[in-house]
Amino acid sequence: MHIFSKLFSAFGPQHWWPIKGEYKPRKLSEQDRLEICIGAILTQNTSWKNVEKALDNLHENKLIDLKNLANIKEQKLAELIRCSGYYRQKAKKLKIFAQHVLKFGSLKIFFEQKNLRDNLLSIWGIGPETADSIILYSAEKPVFVIDAYTKRIMSRFGVCKSDVDYHELQGYFHERLPENHKLFNECHALFVELAKRNCKKVPDCSSCPIKKSCQKQI
Ligand code: SF4
Repeated sequence: MHIFSKLFSAFGPQHWWPIKGEYKPRKLSEQDRLEICIGAILTQNTSWKNVEKALDNLHENKLIDLKNLANIKEQKLAELIRCSGYYRQKAKKLKIFAQHVLKFGSLKIFFEQKNLRDNLLSIWGIGPETADSIILYSAEKPVFVIDAYTKRIMSRFGVCKSDVDYHELQGYFHERLPENHKLFNECHALFVELAKRNCKKVPDCSSCPIKKSCQKQI
């Protein structure tokens, strides 16, 4: 919570997840929730910049829609998301995801599953980070998302090794933070901001808001 308050005071609210490229507070519609799921899959192994163009293409082709996504030809979908990299694999993943959710009728009903995380992890192409991003940002349920930035910052901070296990580091946050999806959302978004501004591959610690507590600085 100490780290969170420092980052929040320095960077302010981040308003994640972006919808149609905009970061702002909002009540999520069913389509917004689907856009987040699609973005979480498309951003695997690529930067968000590459995902934005792919999402624009999907919007233009009315593919932020479960049925349309499930039914479109995989090759056509792959072309539309080419800029996001690994596009053939990702087209397959998106179609499998849409077909899986459609078995439940809607994203809303799918998100009501008690074993939602296990259910997501059972879908081909969805690993812990993607599943947790979907649960936190789209279903708005409290699970802490661990990504490469979180591992980098926490290892430099002195909390873990740089190759820490996903669930071990996730447990660290779950044990220490109140179980609140808004807090988890903001905290993860602030880590990403810190990684972009200060805790880069070569860290720029001089203006880092948490440098006084960081092991790397002591
Ligand atoms: S002080 Fe430096 S190493 Fe520590 S979190 Fe900040 S930028 Fe990263």
